Amino acid sequence: MSVKEILDSLEWGPAPESDAFAREWLDEHGPDFGMYIDGGWRHAASGEKFETRNPADNQLLGTISQAGEEEVNAAVAAARAALPEWSSTPGHVRARYLYAIARQVQKHHRLLAVLETLDNGKPIRETRDVDVPLVARHFYHHAGWAQLFDETFPSYGPVGVCGQVIPWNFPLLMLAWKIAPAIAAGNTVVLKPAEFTSISALAFAAICESVGLPSGVVNIVTGDGRTGALITEHEDIDKVAFTGSTEVGRVIRKATAGSGKALTLELGGKSPFIVFEDADIDSAVEGLVNAIWFNQGQVCCAGSRLLVQESVAEEFHEKLRARMGKLRVGNPMDKAVDMGAIVDEVQLKTISELCQLGCDEGATMWQPDTELPKGGWFFPPTLFTDVSPASTIVQEEIFGPVLVSLTFRSHEEAIALANNTRYGLAGSVWSQDLDTALEVARAIRAGTIWVNCTNQFDANSGFGGYRESGFGREGGREGMHAYIRPTGDHESTAAVATAGADAPAPAGGDGSGDIDRTAKMYIGGKQKRPDGGYSLDVPGGQVGRGNRKDIRDAVAAAIKAIAWAEMSAHSRAQVLYYIAENLEQRTEEFASIISASTGCSDDDAATEVADSVAEWFRWAAWADKFDGRVHETTMHGLVLALNEAIGVVGVICPDSRPLHGFTRLVAPLLAMGNTVVAIPSEAHPLAAAGIYQVLETSDLPGGVLNFVTGLRQEIVSTLAEHDGVDAIWSAAGDIAEVEVASAGNMKRVWNADTSAADEELLRAATQVKNIWLPHGV
Ligand code: NDP
Repeated sequence: MSVKEILDSLEWGPAPESDAFAREWLDEHGPDFGMYIDGGWRHAASGEKFETRNPADNQLLGTISQAGEEEVNAAVAAARAALPEWSSTPGHVRARYLYAIARQVQKHHRLLAVLETLDNGKPIRETRDVDVPLVARHFYHHAGWAQLFDETFPSYGPVGVCGQVIPWNFPLLMLAWKIAPAIAAGNTVVLKPAEFTSISALAFAAICESVGLPSGVVNIVTGDGRTGALITEHEDIDKVAFTGSTEVGRVIRKATAGSGKALTLELGGKSPFIVFEDADIDSAVEGLVNAIWFNQGQVCCAGSRLLVQESVAEEFHEKLRARMGKLRVGNPMDKAVDMGAIVDEVQLKTISELCQLGCDEGATMWQPDTELPKGGWFFPPTLFTDVSPASTIVQEEIFGPVLVSLTFRSHEEAIALANNTRYGLAGSVWSQDLDTALEVARAIRAGTIWVNCTNQFDANSGFGGYRESGFGREGGREGMHAYIRPTGDHESTAAVATAGADAPAPAGGDGSGDIDRTAKMYIGGKQKRPDGGYSLDVPGGQVGRGNRKDIRDAVAAAIKAIAWAEMSAHSRAQVLYYIAENLEQRTEEFASIISASTGCSDDDAATEVADSVAEWFRWAAWADKFDGRVHETTMHGLVLALNEAIGVVGVICPDSRPLHGFTRLVAPLLAMGNTVVAIPSEAHPLAAAGIYQVLETSDLPGGVLNFVTGLRQEIVSTLAEHDGVDAIWSAAGDIAEVEVASAGNMKRVWNADTSAADEELLRAATQVKNIWLPHGV
């Protein structure tokens, strides 16, 4: 027998990790687990509890308290009481607590890894080598932000009491992603782990206790979705952070609408894994194993949609099937196992049903001849071919070890298929050609793109979605912004704008003529009469009374004009400068409209026009200066954080200083490459509506800026509900209705503040995409 034959025929022996240590911990702290509120442990007053079991053998691990109103109230009250002192604790002192937590996580590395595997069913290899090290890294990294808080975020403070609800797929890691930035920034926290996996959160609470974290800073309440709802709907919570399904995310969006609570949502995904013919095929196969079979595929950013170039599809599938046949599914405590158990029987049923649906719809299912352990919840690695882009299993998140495979011919087709999803969490691109890899990485609409790698995470790189995958980022500087809010201590740019108003303007610009005081609407680069044929009498003249059809036309025009984002920032700046110059030429006319329509003095009207001109200059200047970053992560390579346009943004403009308010909101969006559908002030629309005459002489491509005048109550909901709109900025007071309507496609809503610092506007006008580029020879 040759050495090769010996190696090929060798059987894997069992290599179990001991669970004795963790069992002792469970005995010591259980079997009835309480929750951690205000620095102490307690059970639910109702006495209600539920079982938590090991998904690998269905054995009982203990019972967990079901928190009701009394416990949630107590936890929120404790967090509120702790807030003043914790938020004013010097950054370096907060940092020391985070360091201490990080050290304790490292000290109890093995215990935490084993507890997580027992409770969740994921392989010990993953909890030991991925989850727990990343948890420690997160606390170390955020200790750094606490230390540097005052100099890095000088005009910001904490948001307040944060309600955090997390899922079961990375219980301790999701906890770290939520708690570390929150407490680093001086917030206090009430966190609910998922019902299936509460134990590691309770072990974490014990760590907080052991390092002497002040009472009430971190509170862990256990329970099911009812407890989650009590937290997210609690009126004394300032911010809600949620990770989980898009369905529950939508419920939370609606429940928090109009409450003024800050909100970040990290939701589902159906991420593409794209293999080009020039990829290193063996590496790509190995990458795919990590993309879809890591954590049994129960990963929000799992590479669950394989898109492989037709010319190499056969070879790739063949290698993939061979590799799938070698994956070992078994006892997750065995160190040589690749895939452990599915978290619960309920999830196993969901996966099985979706696979059945795939077969019923005509897809071909392939599973290797893998023996599954008895007594727990296991599912084999599964590959579906013969699917179409519209198949249910191609569109729906399965959240299990199930891959669907489609082929493509050209780069364009690959991009179109990759973006053919309502989600936008992540994507993976495999090609040895840098041009291809980067071009495709930039074209995929998702928050994280991995080039020739997959499932890379680091505390210093933001993670989060585009589109229905949610909004907000976790990790790095981007993630810190989810836990801070401006204190209002910035220099007012309005004052800066006015300061230059008297300076002589350089010659140039070709604007001339009178402003039309029966302003029409402006859609797709053309003046439009309102679809309904009605106009409205407004102070100083008349405007069109737009209706739902006008809004839809405007959105269609804005979608068509999306190439604006692909123009260079320099070119966009040129257009904005041109608008500024042309508006300046017409200062007198616009000032007379403003004074006639708002009744303000001539001086105030002239100042408002000057401020508006200054805004166009200001945002033209910003167009190429809101740079991204290159993150330092633990990966060898580059992580490029790009500030990308969000897409089509609806803007509901304020009534006060109507021309300036319109400009202050619309111009930064345009500068960053968005296209806009604006609803000018309802009370004083004429000044903003007159701007079309300036736009027409300023080279702005048609459709980039559209506006529809009219009565807000007749048109706002159409704009907020429209699935073609990616975000809404509303400066019209109560935004409850807009927030509820926006839940359909999870568009982000910003309660727009014209006095906010420029950087806030720029951040609201963009979303961060992180592109991971490993390299090495
Ligand atoms: P959920 O979205 O239901 O659960 C996530 C968290 O939200 C859990 O802590 C849950 O509590 C809690 N929750 C449930 N209902 C509410 C509510 N009305 N208000 C506030 N909190 C609530 O996910 P599931 O666990 O039910 O999984 C269902 C599907 O969701 C999966 O099949 C998968 O497709 C997707 N999913 C996506 C995740 C992601 O990271 N993108 C993570 C997990 C699931 P509890 O679980 O205790 O009832």
